[in-house]
Amino acid sequence: MTVNARKIRLLMALRRNGVTDTQVLAAIERIPRDLFVPDAFQDQAWEDTALPIDLGQTISQPLIVALMTQALELSDRQKVLEIGTGSGYQAAILSRLVRRVYTVERLKPLLDEAEKRFQALRLHNITTRHGDGTKGWPEQAPFERILVTAAGGPDAPKDLTDQLAVGGVMVIPLGGGYREERVVRIRRTETGLTREDLWPVRFVPLLSDPPSETDQPARSA
Ligand code: SAH
Repeated sequence: MTVNARKIRLLMALRRNGVTDTQVLAAIERIPRDLFVPDAFQDQAWEDTALPIDLGQTISQPLIVALMTQALELSDRQKVLEIGTGSGYQAAILSRLVRRVYTVERLKPLLDEAEKRFQALRLHNITTRHGDGTKGWPEQAPFERILVTAAGGPDAPKDLTDQLAVGGVMVIPLGGGYREERVVRIRRTETGLTREDLWPVRFVPLLSDPPSETDQPARSA
């Protein structure tokens, strides 16, 4: 099967599974996912599946990327913060849909690779930072949108909700116990935060301690 045929098959699967936003579908179509996937998994780059990247992390399943992106209710004037750059794929999708993307990753080698991909694709509206994303990016706050692509505890980190603009939306997988995260949408209104449960999901954990030799392998499929 050609790459194009695989791509069309993926887009049809996303539509069947509730991705209706044509701008999100167009972004998935235009960002070459194969560039974000390790050589050993090239044949699966356009399959609707999460794949391993370096250091025990994963590039998320395209359906999850598309649904989380859609759940953010994006428009092209917004400034978005992403926590968990990983391969950079999700940041690349966001960069086609909004004004500016700020993305934070705790594992430097992954961030270096992601930056090379942004350069190669000329995605000049993405700014990266190496560090603990649970602290957000205070110098750039507030953000109209925040997307967390690693699973947090029962509640969103306070530093992140504090950096959400009034009228802003955050999408974040929250646990639960082992393999029991749910994607949650949090909105900041004039009077406080509202929380809406969207769907169940599995993600690698959001870790706030510094990286170490004993980092656990990803528990996401
Ligand atoms: N969005 C990525 C997939 C994310 S995998 C993609 O499109 O490929 C989750 C990532 O979150 C991993 O790379 C992990 O290292 C990172 N991560 C986990 N905890 C973090 C934290 N506190 N701050 C920043 N990044 C974190």
